[in-house]
Amino acid sequence: MPELPEVETMRLQLKKFLAGHKIVSVEVKNSKTFQGDEKKIVGGRIIDVRRFGKVSVIDLNNKYSILTHVKLTGQYIYRGPNLPSPEKLSTKVTGGVPGPHTLVIFNLDRNGVLYYNDVRRFGWIRIEKTKDVEKEKFIVKLGPEPFKGLTLDVFQEILSKTSRMIKVVLMDQEKMGGVGNIYANDALWLSQINPKTPAKDIDRESVQKLYGAILKVLNVGIKYGGASELAFVTPDGREGKYQKHTLVYGHEGDPCERCHKSVIKKFFLGGRGTYFCPNCQK
Ligand SMILES: [Zn+2]
Repeated sequence: MPELPEVETMRLQLKKFLAGHKIVSVEVKNSKTFQGDEKKIVGGRIIDVRRFGKVSVIDLNNKYSILTHVKLTGQYIYRGPNLPSPEKLSTKVTGGVPGPHTLVIFNLDRNGVLYYNDVRRFGWIRIEKTKDVEKEKFIVKLGPEPFKGLTLDVFQEILSKTSRMIKVVLMDQEKMGGVGNIYANDALWLSQINPKTPAKDIDRESVQKLYGAILKVLNVGIKYGGASELAFVTPDGREGKYQKHTLVYGHEGDPCERCHKSVIKKFFLGGRGTYFCPNCQK
């Protein structure tokens, strides 16, 4: 599942490519994917792309917005004048565009097209009035996230109130949004904290280190365009590269880059692959 750096990378590219385009027509190939009346957005001009947790919101100048969650395998691919010389489409775009997995096509003015592909079909697109977007239940329920409300004080407060294991708390999207599995592993290694440590037992200095580490790994993730481990691709049709720059995630059996005294071990915590150095994350 895409995490904050992937969805943020998607938002940045969608905004760059779509802003200024007018929607000319919408072709819905799978009605379950698309909720609402597509006629409401035809003729609207795209003015902004926002993000609330993992949901992207494409705002139009006609008081309507397009909300979308790509879930496990959803992919947005843009082709048109705002991407004058696209590179070869990633092989992760199964079937190409348009192809057998293209579920929705947004035809734009100036020969632009936005394709939505989704092999597993868990993703969704919904049309809603812009003024109602922030009243959505899932947005109201969102916890604070790094870069948006999750200050060091808020972070400290959340950790001090629970004895659950730190890695599980970091990934609890109702406590705090944005930190998924890859980045939780890397941030804990960077701050030398064992993933099983009860959150409230972490001292103030280590909490500060962890907070800084989270911001750092997320920023590096965004810099590399997110991680394209499974189906994630960016709207230019390319892949993110963070998976080639992870610190411990996916490095089982490799020597620890910091202490060189142990190899990275892997175990499962809450069903998720957890990587750590037994020597420097005691
Ligand atoms: Zn180590």
